[in-house]
Amino acid sequence: MNPEEALKLAPTQLLIGGERRDAADGSLIDVYDPATASVVAQVADGSVADGLSAVEAAAQAGPAWAATPPRQRGEVLRRAFELMTEHAEELAQLIVLENGKALRDARGEVAYAAEFFRWYAEEAVRGFGEIGTAPSGTNRILVLRQPIGVCVLVTPWNFPAAMATRKIGPALAAGCSMVLKPASDTPLTALAIGALLEQAGVPAGVVNVVPSRKSGPVVSAMLHDPRVRKLSFTGSTEVGRTLLHEAADGVVNTSMELGGNAPFLVLDDADITAAVQGAMIAKMRNGGEACTAANRFYVHRHVADEFSRGLAEAMGRLVVGPGSDPSTELGPLVNPAAVRKVDELVTGALDDGARALIGADRPDRTGWYYNPTVLMNVHKTNPILGAEVFGPVAPIVVFDDDEEAVAAANDTEFGLVSYLYTGDLAAGLRVAEALEAGMVGLNRGLVSDPAAPFGGVKQSGIGREGGHEGMLEYLESKYIAVQW
Ligand code: NAD
Repeated sequence: MNPEEALKLAPTQLLIGGERRDAADGSLIDVYDPATASVVAQVADGSVADGLSAVEAAAQAGPAWAATPPRQRGEVLRRAFELMTEHAEELAQLIVLENGKALRDARGEVAYAAEFFRWYAEEAVRGFGEIGTAPSGTNRILVLRQPIGVCVLVTPWNFPAAMATRKIGPALAAGCSMVLKPASDTPLTALAIGALLEQAGVPAGVVNVVPSRKSGPVVSAMLHDPRVRKLSFTGSTEVGRTLLHEAADGVVNTSMELGGNAPFLVLDDADITAAVQGAMIAKMRNGGEACTAANRFYVHRHVADEFSRGLAEAMGRLVVGPGSDPSTELGPLVNPAAVRKVDELVTGALDDGARALIGADRPDRTGWYYNPTVLMNVHKTNPILGAEVFGPVAPIVVFDDDEEAVAAANDTEFGLVSYLYTGDLAAGLRVAEALEAGMVGLNRGLVSDPAAPFGGVKQSGIGREGGHEGMLEYLESKYIAVQW
C-alpha cells in the first residue's frame, strides 16, 4: 500500500456535529513527513469558534447517547474495533506518514489502539453502582454511576491512534459526548479514527474532532464553557500543569497522563539476556518517543559490563531508515526540535564525562534522524537523567547496592513507570513496592495493556486509563439516601 491510499482514509476537515467543516477562519495546518521533511497534507486548523461549536454539538448529542442502552453503546464500540482492524494497514501507514515511526511500531500501535475499543465494548455493560445499608440502619445507601457529560480530550503526537482511543473508548462506553483535540503534528490519524467511528454508528455530535495549532486559546475556551465537565489530557507535565490551572476555574474534572522519566534497574542476579531484550523494548519501542520509555539505566556493578555490551550490540544492530520501509527498525524523530533536544542532552552528558559505546551522532541523510546511542559512566547529577530524552538514547549509571539504586530511581518529580530485572521474585516485589511509580515492569520491558490501569504518581499524572478504572474516570457517582 502506498501513502496516497492511506491518506484517503483521513478527511482533512474538522468533524463537528457529524459535518465536515473548514476552520471558521479558513486557516490550515501543514502536516509534515518526518522522513522527508516535506508537507504531505493540509488539515483545517480549528479556531476558538470551532472549538465552541464542537462543544455545542457535543452538548446537543450528549443526552441521547447517555440514554442509549449500554449494550448498544458496546456494540458500536465493537464495530469500531472491527473497522480499525479492517483498516489496520492504512492506519499504520498514516501514522508512519505523519509521525515518522517505523512501520512495525505503527502496526503495533494500531493493534493496541483498536484493543481499547474492544475492551470498552465489553466494559460498557459494567457501569454498575452499589447498594448498602447505612451503619445506623436507618436507610439504604444507593450509588448510581452516571456519565459525567461533555469531555474535552487532548492528545499528543507520539501515539496518534492509541492516545485517542484510550480516551474515546471509555468515554463512549460511559455514555459521554466529546471533543477530541489531537496534536497538531499528527492530526490525520485522529481524523481517520473520527471517520471510522461515524461508520461504526456513533451518532453525529457524540465524537467531534478539532485539530488546532492554536491549542492554548482553543482548549482554554472549551474548558471555560460551563457545559464541559471533564478534561482528559495526555502530554507533557508542563502543559498539563497549565491545563490544571485552566480547569480549576470551572472546577472541571481532570484526568492527566503526563511525562515520565522511567528508571530501568538491573540487579546483580538478573538474567542479562532477558534484561537486554526487555531494555530494547522499554527503550526503543516507538523509537524512544514514549512516555513509558526507559530513560535512565541503573545497573549493578557486577553485571554492568555484560549488560552495557549486550545493549550496545543490540542497539547497533537496529536498521535506521524511513518508517515506511518495512525493514526499518528505527525511524526519524518527529520534528527538528526533537533532534536538537536529544543532541543537546547527549552532548551535555559527554562533556560531563560520559563515554559513548555507540552513536551520539546523526546519520548523514535527509530527515530528522538520530542514531541509537548508549552512554556509559553518566554522571549521577547530569541533566540527561532528569529530563525526558524522547529519543534513542540509553544513559547507564552503575550502582553498588539495591537501596542506592531505588533512591536514585525515586529521585525525580516523575513517577509513571519503572522497570526492574532480577532473578529473585521476592526481592523484585520488595523493590517494586518501594519504587515511586504508577506502574512497574518486573522482568518485563512492556507494561501497556488495555485491560490494566495505566497512569502515574507524583507529577506524572492524576487518574488511570484502561481497565475498569479507565471507565470510572468518565462516570460520576450519585448517592441516593433512601428508606423503604
Ligand atoms: P505536549 O504537552 O506538548 O502536547 C500535548 C497536547 O497538548 C497536544 O495536543 C498539544 O497541541 C496540546 N497543547 C500544547 N500546549 C497547549 C496549551 N497551552 N493548552 C492546551 N493544549 C496544549 O506533549 P507532546 O509533545 O505532544 O507529547 C509528548 C509528551 O506527552 C511527553 O511529555 C510524554 O511523556 C507525554 N505522554 C504521556 C503519556 C502518558 O500516558 N502519561 C503518553 C504519551 C505521551
